This record gives sequence, C-alpha cells and structure tokens, in this order.
Amino acid sequence: MDANNTAADFAVIDVTRVDHWHEEADVIVVGFGAAGSCAAIEAAEAGADVLVLERASGISGTTCAATGHFYLGGGTPPQRANGIDDSSEAMFDYLMANTPQPDEQKIRLYCEQSVEHFHWLTDQGVPFNNGFYRKKHFEQPTDECLIWSGNEKVWPISQQAKPAPRGHKVEKTGSEGGGLVMKHLTAKAQSSGVRFQHDAAVKNLLLDGDRVVGVSYSHFKEQRFVRAHKAVILAAGGFAMNQQMMDQYCPRLADPRVYKQGNPFDDGSGIELGMSVGGATEHMDGALITSPFYPPQELLFGIMVNNQGQRFINEDSYHARTAAACLAQPDDTVYLIADNDTFGRPELGMQELIDAWETVAEMEQDLQLPTGALQKTMADYNRAAENGSDPEQHKYKDWVKPLNNPPYAAIECSFGKSFYVGFTLGGLKVNVDGQVINQQQQVVDGLYAAGACASNIAQDGAGYSSGTCIGESTFFGRRAGRHAGQ
Ligand SMILES: Cc1cc2nc3c(=O)[nH]c(=O)nc-3n(C[C@H](O)[C@H](O)[C@H](O)COP(=O)(O)OP(=O)(O)OC[C@H]3O[C@@H](n4cnc5c(N)ncnc54)[C@H](O)[C@@H]3O)c2cc1C
Repeated sequence: MDANNTAADFAVIDVTRVDHWHEEADVIVVGFGAAGSCAAIEAAEAGADVLVLERASGISGTTCAATGHFYLGGGTPPQRANGIDDSSEAMFDYLMANTPQPDEQKIRLYCEQSVEHFHWLTDQGVPFNNGFYRKKHFEQPTDECLIWSGNEKVWPISQQAKPAPRGHKVEKTGSEGGGLVMKHLTAKAQSSGVRFQHDAAVKNLLLDGDRVVGVSYSHFKEQRFVRAHKAVILAAGGFAMNQQMMDQYCPRLADPRVYKQGNPFDDGSGIELGMSVGGATEHMDGALITSPFYPPQELLFGIMVNNQGQRFINEDSYHARTAAACLAQPDDTVYLIADNDTFGRPELGMQELIDAWETVAEMEQDLQLPTGALQKTMADYNRAAENGSDPEQHKYKDWVKPLNNPPYAAIECSFGKSFYVGFTLGGLKVNVDGQVINQQQQVVDGLYAAGACASNIAQDGAGYSSGTCIGESTFFGRRAGRHAGQ
C-alpha cells in the first residue's frame, strides 16, 4: 500500500474465495496504537483469543510520537490531590459546549467513566503523578501530570462550564510520553496473552453474507487470510499522510504549507477498509491545525490583529482555537503585537519576529494596515486594560495589561509565513461500543473501529483540548474490545 490508496486496494473479498486460512482468532485487531492496544487488552480480558495485525515491524504508531496527554476529569486522583473541585457534569458541560456536533451519549459515558478510566490506565502500568504544572504551555517541560490543556478558562466556554484542569500528562519529562504509554500497554497486552503479527498490512475485509469474518493481509510478498470468529477491530490511525483523502475531505490540511503530523502509515487504510463494507464516516473535514506561539506565556498578554488592524480572538485561547481563528482571517494575515514588557521570542520557533518600532503609527504603516486602525485597536485595548478588562474579546483577566511600553514588536502569525502543523480528526461512524455503522444506520456485523480511524469526540481544532485524542482512543478502544470479545 502506498500513501495514496485507491478503493480497489481495499476491495472486499467474499469468504467463499478463501481456500486456505493462515490463522484463526476470536478477535483480530488491525493496528496497535492507543486504540488497538486497549481494544486488544480488553478483548483478551473478556476471554477472547486476540490476534493483533500490525503493519509496522515494531510499535511505532502516532501514539508513540504523542506527548502523552489524556483529557480526563470528574475528580481524578491528581485533581483531588491538588484540591481541584471537578465533576463529571462540569466536564460534560465543557465537552458539549466545545464540540460542534456533540454526541451526547458518548460524551456522557466518557465523562462519567473518566475516573474509572484513569484507574484502569494506572492498573495497566501507565504512570501519572500528582504534580500540577500551572503555567500555560504547549508541551510541558516537566513530568508533572495535571495541566490546563484546553479552553476551560476561555470565554465564552468559561461561562458555560465550570473550569477545571483536565489534561493528564503521563509521568515523563518533556514531550515524549506517548512512547511510555505504549511501552506499558504493550507489556500488558503481551501478559494478557494477545498474539502479535508484525509486518502485516491489512488490505481487505472478508465477508460472509453481510458479516465481516476476517481479513487478508500482506506479509512482504505473501497474501495471508485470517478468520475472525467474533470480530475485526479497525484501529489503524488517521489519514494525514494520504494526499488524495485530504484533498477530498479537508483541503486546508491538504495545503502543502501545513506540515502533516503522524506516522507514515496514517494513510487512511482503516477508514477505507471500513468504507469497503459500507461503513459511513463522520467529521471527515475535521482537522487539528495549529501554530502555537506560546511559550513564553508572556506573549499571551499581546494582542492578535488581522490585515485590518482588528482583533478577532481572545489570545489566551488554547493554541488550536487561536489557529482556527487565524485561518479564518482575510488574506490569511495575522500579527501578534507585544510591547517591551510582554515581548518574548516564541520558544517553539514557529513564528518569526518581523520588527520592532518606537510608535504604533510606524508599525501600522510598515505592516501596511489601514491608517489609524491599529492605533485605535491599541488605544481601545489599553484603555480597558487599565482596569484589567477586555470587553471586546474577553481575554481572561490574568492575561490583560496595557501594551504601552515601547518598542512595540510584531510577530508573524500568518498562514503560509509561520509554521502550521496538523492531523486529521474524522473517521468511521461508530456507536458507543465501537461497532461500525453503515449508510443505512445499521451496525456492520462483526466490524468495530476505534482511535483516529473512528469518529467519537474530537471534531475540529477550534474545540479541541489536548488529550482528547488519546483519551478517546483508549476509552472507546476499550469499549470496542470488551464488546467484541464477549
Ligand atoms: C506529534 C503528535 C503529538 C500528539 N500528542 C497527543 C497527546 O499528547 N494527546 C492526545 O490525546 N493526542 C495527541 N496526538 C494525537 C494522537 O496521538 C492520535 O490521535 C492517537 O495516538 C491515535 O491513536 P491510534 O491508536 O488511533 O493510532 P496509532 O497510534 O497511529 O496506531 C495505529 C497503528 O495502525 C497501524 N496500521 C496502519 N494501517 C494499518 C494496516 N492497514 N494494517 C495493519 N496495521 C496498520 C500503524 O502502523 C499504527 O501502528 C498527537 C499527535 C501527534 C502527531
């Protein structure tokens, strides 16, 4: 399979055409990342004989590249240890308010069982501590667990749901926690008796009537057939590496100026396998596209303006919400303005300093903004900021102070000129147990999907909170495994 699969690559095979079974299992799990590992563990714990078919030679999915944030709440041990008063209801309100087309049933389950899920993860060996990283950061440099990882304190969401920090970072210094998560989940799957076949690229589903009863995969040049007595669970990741699918479903992400994040096998094969048997998809236009300008967090005191010299977002938003607003500006043009007190160079190096000026009028002229526009924006902002308020964009009071100490700096945040990265969020339509749903809204017998190849909670960048993808991949992966394994 290359990175531009065609429908023919995944054509369904009628089971009557199979004359030799290479192997059999109760449950076949296609792909072993956050979703596949949790599905495999739960299916095995339910008593099923589980075979994982993983296309890579080792454990190397996108989960391994992830920071290791999980979005959890409702009173987890790290929240309690830090005196955070959270409830599953507040978490539910938050996710409902922050999701364009929320699936109420899934969000309710996810929130009500979030504390249980935290304990299950620690039971598998995934380590978390009770540290609390209080600053605003993109990928926390310490091993502290609890973080503000979304838009909880950001207006208007802060008015719709009681804020609480719900990002739970695995106990690992820096940004490589995903590998640690996979190390523990792999060990647990192995000790649960899950069998593994690597270098196994699943290419077709096998159908007996309307029921999925197995898969065919290529092992180097050999084609093999495996029978599934109970179910096949697709957990093969997203499609950020498939140009054709991105062109079709999310053109903004397809733009070559967005750096695609993920592993080379994020080519949508799981989604295409599901579609080959009539599986429906959801939110395929959804992508997380971002360009974090913090740290340093001091830059959150700055203001963002478009090519009209006007503000358009509360700058303290989670970086993907800010980026979504930037992408909606005329000409894709955005500048972050700071004064001498609030200036810092973006530590991730995704944005460049354009220049600094002694007066706002000079800056306005050099940036070719309409005469007087930026001067008015700054004057209005500063006037209200003297009282610690931001009536225009409602930035949280902690990040509001007048920008009146020259020189004034402009940082380039325009799409195409600063560095934007992204990955996909849409996938196969599934019910709360991970069963794939077809175009007629019926369950596809014998077929499940979880993780980045399914659509559960995360739908777009504007509403995203860090930790939602691995949170939902592990949570709904478990549910799929349990249901399929019974
Ligand atoms: C840099 C980065 C950082 C991130 N950090 C976070 C974070 O901290 N928190 C968070 O919630 N989200 C994060 N995300 C998103 C998150 O990592 C993913 O959404 C999540 O890991 C997906 O898990 P998965 O199990 O669905 O896929 P994966 O972990 O990618 O696993 C899928 C597996 O399927 C295999 N596969 C693919 N096709 C086939 C096939 N045809 N046959 C057999 N095997 C196949 C692949 O080789 C792979 O091993 C991050 C993403 C990136 C890119």
